[in-house]
Order: sequence, then structure tokens, then C-alpha cells
Amino acid sequence: MHAPPSRKSFDRTGADHIAPDCAGQNFYVIDRGLRDLLRLYLAPDDLARLEPHFDRLGALAGGRLDELARIADKHPPVLNARDAFGRDEDWIDYHSSYRDMEKIAFGDFQFHAMSHRAGTLGMDRPLPAVAKYALQYLFVQAEFGLMCPISVTDTSIHLIRKFASAELKDYLLPKMLSNDPANQWKGTQFMTERAGGSDVGAIETLARCEDGEWRLYGDKWFCSHADADVALLLARPEGAPAGTRGLALFALPRRLKDGRRNSYRIVRLKDKLGTRSMASGEIRLEGAVAYLVGDAKAGLKQMMEQVNLSRLSHGVRAAAMMRRCVNEALVCARTRSAFGKTIIDYPLLRRQLLKITVPTEAALSMFLFAANAMDRANAGSKDAENLLRILTPLLKFRACRDNIPVATGAMEVRGGNGYIEEWVNARLVRDAHIGVLWEGTSNINALDIIQRAVGKSAAHRMLGTALKHKLDEAAALPKGFRDCLTLALERALAFAEQVAAEPDAEATARLAASGLYHITSAILLAWEGSQPGVDARRALLARFVLEHRLTARDPLAPANDDWERDSIDIVLGEEPASPARVATLLDS
Ligand SMILES: Cc1cc2nc3c(=O)[nH]c(=O)nc-3n(C[C@H](O)[C@H](O)[C@H](O)COP(=O)(O)OP(=O)(O)OC[C@H]3O[C@@H](n4cnc5c(N)ncnc54)[C@H](O)[C@@H]3O)c2cc1C
Repeated sequence: MHAPPSRKSFDRTGADHIAPDCAGQNFYVIDRGLRDLLRLYLAPDDLARLEPHFDRLGALAGGRLDELARIADKHPPVLNARDAFGRDEDWIDYHSSYRDMEKIAFGDFQFHAMSHRAGTLGMDRPLPAVAKYALQYLFVQAEFGLMCPISVTDTSIHLIRKFASAELKDYLLPKMLSNDPANQWKGTQFMTERAGGSDVGAIETLARCEDGEWRLYGDKWFCSHADADVALLLARPEGAPAGTRGLALFALPRRLKDGRRNSYRIVRLKDKLGTRSMASGEIRLEGAVAYLVGDAKAGLKQMMEQVNLSRLSHGVRAAAMMRRCVNEALVCARTRSAFGKTIIDYPLLRRQLLKITVPTEAALSMFLFAANAMDRANAGSKDAENLLRILTPLLKFRACRDNIPVATGAMEVRGGNGYIEEWVNARLVRDAHIGVLWEGTSNINALDIIQRAVGKSAAHRMLGTALKHKLDEAAALPKGFRDCLTLALERALAFAEQVAAEPDAEATARLAASGLYHITSAILLAWEGSQPGVDARRALLARFVLEHRLTARDPLAPANDDWERDSIDIVLGEEPASPARVATLLDS
């Protein structure tokens, strides 16, 4: 059987009517926004040391990794329930393309360990969060499914390091931090049960102490990375109270210390809409041995640390998939002809391109701002911790929602070919939808923002302070524009506070959360665009957010759109605009 030609080397002779895709591009080199913002957020020494790795991963994401991802998506994992001797040695077969992607992720880049120990990518200390999430962003532009096992291994290590006993750490961490595939233990998180996904307090899995060790009984309904070597999960110790208060956190090893398979079964794998390269399954716990992690009465509180880290990563993944969508749409729009013109020359199509570009750049700004807050929180800043508290669900909620129309919009730019599985657009549309489900649906994240981050922690005040500071630093932008942003900020904060204070207003939680996301991204884009060396066009994107997401418009009486038409031309152009030209457009 002959393999299809690599797209990179694909001879396009005879394919002249079909718009190409991004194959062969370096996703780091072509991403001006990412490169500019990394200069704002990373120390120059760190950037100098890490840039070759960003560049290398950018090339892989547009090349080899992309080809592997395409194949892995077509060859989903297969569960084997028993071996030839009838033993319940369940295992999952993965296509070699998936295994090759694992080598890049866990062996070459060591994503799982980069936040936890020195020595990855030539660094003499763990990587800053900004760098880790920038690498995740590049990786996911090619492969989305595998980012789940990568991220959940990283976040499981975080929980074990923070909460496990010294003995449990000694047992698990050397394996989990290893980059040797023969000895490495990868992690996962099994929380959801049939009785409860959002309603975690409904969890029914029972933990019983038998002969001095914990054994688990029950069913887990959604288990991504189903064959991980160690899973973190919530279970209710016998006699513990109902609801979330009675849940404890456990580490469940796949194999026991003597090498035997632990007493749980992967009952079946899910036939999923997206993330098809990665195995999600159902687990039946039949007295499986598990280790208690941390305080038995603080299971959910501890687990929420993993949930929040995952939520941030989900926001990054949505940003990455949107970037891939925009890259694909631009390549297509600049090459496809219709009615005698290249399609990018049509006003309606230009508007469509802008509509997918704005949320994409906004998500980039948001995740790097959140990652920077994480770096400052890790260095001991309580203010940054408070800021991260609200930025995490904001990013997860809004970026994951935006991913869906952006993926659909990019597919439409490719026309009918976008619907065909030979092109990446179809996979991007399928993969985009999971972001609004796992680690909390949109409603659950919006409620977390309004009821807890705003209502209980008052984290929106820290957000307001941080954004006012950014506006002060954007003094190079026209005053009238900055005043409009200040006013919108005050209104968004007041609206969120009002919704948090009135139980009857719960139905508007998503609206209020969206308002906070949009004003945050608008001010970040404006601030970034005002900084020396950064593409000034980012400030134009801020105006689009302000006008289209934070200002009432009459759909039957379009405003004078001269600034819009000129701004779209500049944003979609291949060259940056001068700060003076941008300032004129912001002022008009
Ligand atoms: C492919 C895939 C992989 C997954 N992998 C994992 C995994 O590895 N580990 C894991 O633990 N879980 C995993 N999940 C489960 C996922 O996290 C849950 O599906 C999700 O949390 C939603 O829970 P649920 O399915 O029970 O929906 P429900 O909680 O039943 O929600 C149904 C609807 O009700 C809404 N709703 C619920 N409560 C409220 C409320 N208070 N106010 C307003 N609306 C509300 C929700 O927003 C949703 O729209 C996975 C799911 C999928 C699809």
C-alpha cells in the first residue's frame, strides 16, 4: 500500500483550482501576535533560550506533527478486553502515529515535566507558565486529542507534589517525572459519574478501608486517557457525609507494586465526535487499590486545583485551534478565486475573516495575561493569585465558546472542501465542541465566575485594578478611546457585581461573564498595541471588541463604518500599520 504524499512536498501541478492548506508553514514564525507578546511577558534571557524550541515546535506543528495528527484522527484507539488466555488484562491499541506524537510530547519536549523540574529544554529551572502555555498553543495547532493526556499528566504531578504524603511522592513522582517511555507513568483524572458531572456532590464511588488499604468500588462514566498509569479521582469514604464535603481524593495506579493489574476494568471506549485520537472510556472499579491524597475531608478543594489548571489549558487549546482556523482561512482566502477575483478581495469575505480574527487574537491576549498572573502567583503575589482566580474561568468559558463559530467560519471560507475530512477544517469543527463540555460546561464556568470569583472572592476588583493599570500604560493611545474603555470597564464590573448580588439575576450570569471577558481582552489588546515593538494593529482589534461586543448597535441602522472598512484592510494586510495611522483610526 502506498502512503499518500506528504502535503509539504505535494506537487500542486494539476491542483491549481484547489486552495492549499497551511502544510509546511512554521506556526511560530507566521504568528506575529505570539512572538510580540512573548517579548512582553518573558524575560529576555528566557526568551533567548526558549526561542529555538518555539521555532522548532512551530515547524513541527505545520509539518510532521500535523501529518501524524491527521493519521491518528483516522485511526482511533481500540480497546482489547482480554488477552489470548482469557485474562482480564485490558489494554488499548494506538496507531503508531499517536505513539510518534507521544514521543515528541513526552520525550522530546517533556511537556509533562517542564513546570516541575529543571532540565527540560535546556532550562536550569522549571519553565515559566507563559512558556509552557505558549508551547501547548503551538502543539495544539496540529494535534488536539493528545493534549489531554499531556496536560492531565502535568496537572496530576502538580496535585501529587502539593498534597501527597512524602511516601506517596517518593513512590509516584520519579515515575511521573521521567522522560523514559519504558518507565514513565502518565496521569489522568476520573471524576464524572452517571449521577453527576456538573453535580460533583452526587458522586457514588465508595472508598472502603480494608486491611489497612483503601479500595474503591463504583463506576466512572467519562475517563479520558483511560489507560493512564495513575488516575486521580474522587470517592466517598465509607461513612463520610453526602455531597461534596464527603469526598476524598485518591490516586489509583493501573498496576500494583507487584506488577499485577489493579482491580478495575476499562469497560468500553466512547465513540466520540472529536478528540478521536485519544481514548476516553468507562471504568468499573472492583475493589481497586488506591492511595489517599492529602486531607480526606478536602478532596474536592484539592481536586479543584487540577480542574482550574485544566480549565486554563482548555482556554489555551481553544486559542490554538482558533489560530489554526485563522491561518487556514487566510491561506485559502488569499489563493482561491471566484468570479474573477481572489476571494479575499470581497467585502463580505473580509468581514468574515475579521470576525474570526478578533476572538482568536483576544484569546491569545487572555491566555498569556493569565499565564503571566500564574507566574507572578507562583512567585508569591496574592494579588496575582486573585487575578488568576477570575481569569481562569473567564478564559475557559469564553474562548471555548468562541472556538465553535470560529471553526465553522473558517470551514466556510474553504467552501465545500472545508466539510471534507481530507482537510483539517472538518476536524477543527469536530474538536471545537468539546471545550464547552469538559471541566465544566459554559453554565458551570459562568456561575463560577459570577457566584464565586465575583460574589465570594471579589476577584473582579483585582481585575479592575490590573486593567486600569494597563490603560495607564497605554497612554500613547488617543484619550477618547481610552476613556471609552474605562467607561466600559466600570460598567462591566458593576454589572457582574449586580448579578452576583441578586439571586434572581442568575440567568444573566453568562452575559455578565462575557462582558468581563470582552472588556478584559479589549484593554489587553489596546495595551499590547501601544507597546513599543508590538504590532500596533492589536489596538484596532480592541476597538472592534469595544464596538461589537460592549456597545449596543441598531442592526437596522448601521453606523458610519468608514473606520471599520479601513481598519479591516489594515488588519488583513500582510504588513503592520504605523502607530500614527492606528491612532487616527481609533480617534475617528
Ligand atoms: C469526550 C469527553 C471526555 C471527558 N473526559 C472526562 C474525564 O477524563 N474525566 C472526567 O471526570 N470527566 C470527563 N468528561 C465529562 C465532562 O467533564 C462532563 O460531561 C461535564 O462536566 C458535564 O457533566 P454531565 O455530562 O454530567 O452534564 P450535566 O451535569 O448533566 O449537565 C447537563 C446540562 O445541564 C447544565 N447544568 C447543570 N447544572 C447546572 C446549573 N446549576 N445551572 C445551569 N445549568 C446547569 C449544564 O450546563 C449542561 O448544559 C468528559 C466528557 C466528554 C464528552
